Amino acid sequence: MTTIIDGKAVAKKVNAATQTAVAELEQQGIKPGIAVIIVGEDPASQIYVRNKNRKATKLGMHSVVRQLPVTTTQAELLSIIAEYNSDASIHGILVQSPLPKQINEPLITMAIDPKKDVDGFHPTNMGKLITNFPGNYPVANTPRGIMTLLAEYGIDPAGKQAVVIGRSTIVGKPMAALLTNANATVTVAHSRTKDLKALARTADILVVATGIAHLITGADIKPGATVIDVGMDRDADGKLVGDVDFDSAQGVAGFITPVPGGVGPMTIATLMQTTVELAKWSDLSE
Ligand code: NAD
Repeated sequence: MTTIIDGKAVAKKVNAATQTAVAELEQQGIKPGIAVIIVGEDPASQIYVRNKNRKATKLGMHSVVRQLPVTTTQAELLSIIAEYNSDASIHGILVQSPLPKQINEPLITMAIDPKKDVDGFHPTNMGKLITNFPGNYPVANTPRGIMTLLAEYGIDPAGKQAVVIGRSTIVGKPMAALLTNANATVTVAHSRTKDLKALARTADILVVATGIAHLITGADIKPGATVIDVGMDRDADGKLVGDVDFDSAQGVAGFITPVPGGVGPMTIATLMQTTVELAKWSDLSE
């Protein structure tokens, strides 16, 4: 029997805790604030940013969306980031990806104050994650949300074989670090991995984040494994599907996240959770 991991339900629970934390901070005179900067008119990015803004406002936070033209220069974007770095009402800064070609994305990531790095992509925070550094720091929201899902369903990575397919800075690499820190034995696979499907079949926990619709099918899954599908892809009919063929995986996997309704809702809920934490930590460091 396969248990479907209900990302919407867990996200609701996370959001409720965030709302409580916002109310508590407000009593101390702190209103968590997030600034989302978007450069250009990419339609998918516009939707993501609108959803983030709506959710932050709904949870009682201060939310700013800074829409910039596609012609924005690197220097202009850097100066706007500097503005939010020194704005005490903003605790989290997010620069929506993708950025236009004239902008050097790693330099933009580096320009965000690590204490306001709500995405957790700054090398200082990534370094802390890799070294399992003690103390508070932001961690990439999608993989962190996946760890919350595992915990909610009582799936302890310790001692398990985990295979992470995808090595991006946004998902694959921080996911591998989080699972390693949680004592799993982790293998990272990617586009140059040989015999991917045989490797996938060794996984007790299989995280798939490639952007390739239905790359993994039921035949590639170890019976009883936990399958986390990060993909948000379109099939031939334009329907939103994952990197895992859900129908053939059902009945083989022990646990599986659906697309939509699995990892997606957790990413935004975790982003809100991180914003509130940054606000809390900023108070502690003053
Ligand atoms: P990316 O393009 O940066 O990275 C894709 C990774 O997949 C690369 O490391 C690449 O080596 C690997 N890959 C590509 N083809 C492969 C193949 N045939 N076999 C094995 N590995 C292969 O993508 P990303 O930003 O990590 O996102 C991956 C997917 O997750 C996308 O569909 C994206 O939309 C989705 N995503 C979803 C959420 C969410 O909240 N649900 C968040 C982030 C990303």
